[in-house]
Amino acid sequence: MGNSEGKSGFWGTTLNRLKSVLAKTKDQVGVDEAFAESGTEVSTEQAQSGPSGSAGELSTASGASSASSASSAAPQAVHARPQEAQTKQKAVKVVDEDFIETLQDRLIRADLGLNNVDTLIEDLRRESKSKNWNSLDVENFLKKEFAQLLIDTKGTALNYKAGSLNVILVVGVNGVGKTTSIGKLAWRFKSQGKKVLLAAGDTFRAAAESQLEIWSQRAQVDIVRLPDGSDPGAVVYQALAKANEEKYDVVIIDTAGRLHNKTNLMAELKKIRSVVDKQKGEASVESLLVLDASTGQNGLQQAKVFSETCGLTGVILTKLDGTAKGGVVFAIARELKIPVKLIGIGEKMEDLRDFDADMFVEALF
Ligand code: GDP
Ligand code: MG
Repeated sequence: MGNSEGKSGFWGTTLNRLKSVLAKTKDQVGVDEAFAESGTEVSTEQAQSGPSGSAGELSTASGASSASSASSAAPQAVHARPQEAQTKQKAVKVVDEDFIETLQDRLIRADLGLNNVDTLIEDLRRESKSKNWNSLDVENFLKKEFAQLLIDTKGTALNYKAGSLNVILVVGVNGVGKTTSIGKLAWRFKSQGKKVLLAAGDTFRAAAESQLEIWSQRAQVDIVRLPDGSDPGAVVYQALAKANEEKYDVVIIDTAGRLHNKTNLMAELKKIRSVVDKQKGEASVESLLVLDASTGQNGLQQAKVFSETCGLTGVILTKLDGTAKGGVVFAIARELKIPVKLIGIGEKMEDLRDFDADMFVEALF
């Protein structure tokens, strides 16, 4: 797979950081650097002598605050380190009003959505009240809260059934990275030895079909393309017929970008979906919405409408190599229970990753 070295931007930095974190032993893993941006500094020892007690208890303390959370222990494990190692850690922060306000700001800027942020900050105030929390406690608390938000959308892995056809329908508004993501995905399946077929369902612009064709050549997979302006339903029909007949493993369907508020285009998408359902045979279907990470809260509206039209099973969150953090996925997880399955971190073939909730939460700080 690709490597993230030399990558900049939000996710590039995050990947590099995580890589170096992994290279260290767990004992040496420190306080999240980014988290220490705000608030009043206190020495680690000072923080330790507070009511929160030892590092082990830090996790327990915040664990109790979201008792319903059955999430994995991964995030808190980062902080479960021996006393000796802790004294080497950099300073943690006192949680005061300034700290909370800065945090609130940062969460809003990460596009978590006002509702989410309000709830989180309210919970934080309630939980931390008269407990003399420091920034470590807050970090642990928030990680658990985030994990809880994502927990109902478990199963973030892309569905793939071996020995049968797998259909992946890719939808979304213009320019978000549908065609690019399809190219990357095709290449991934191809390198796993799968027989892959692309369906050029974006017949709206000739350039779009050519773009998909270029990706098919790069990834060395087959493509079904009809004359420009053809009915996209016909393309999908032909592609599925070919795939069933010639025993393909995967068909990935490109579609024209459409605004979720254009009813005629959404009706066309509905038709594409019904062709898929009629022709799929035994195939399992993934219906993926591609979202640009910088979309902000409008992404939630897009997800709602596309979900009603073509039954989404997941989200591909693209352009995470930029500065956008894509926090809108928490809103989508909370309101629609649709998981993020893949993320795009660049324009190249290998710049596609499986979504990892722990890593994503880690990256928010
Ligand atoms: P579509 O209209 O949804 O099919 O979008 P395209 O696949 O044509 O992509 C639109 C633009 O976004 C192109 O310039 C892509 O190279 C770029 N793009 C797609 N995914 C990513 C990504 O993950 N990171 C970056 N930086 N650019 C991307
Ligand atoms: Mg396209």
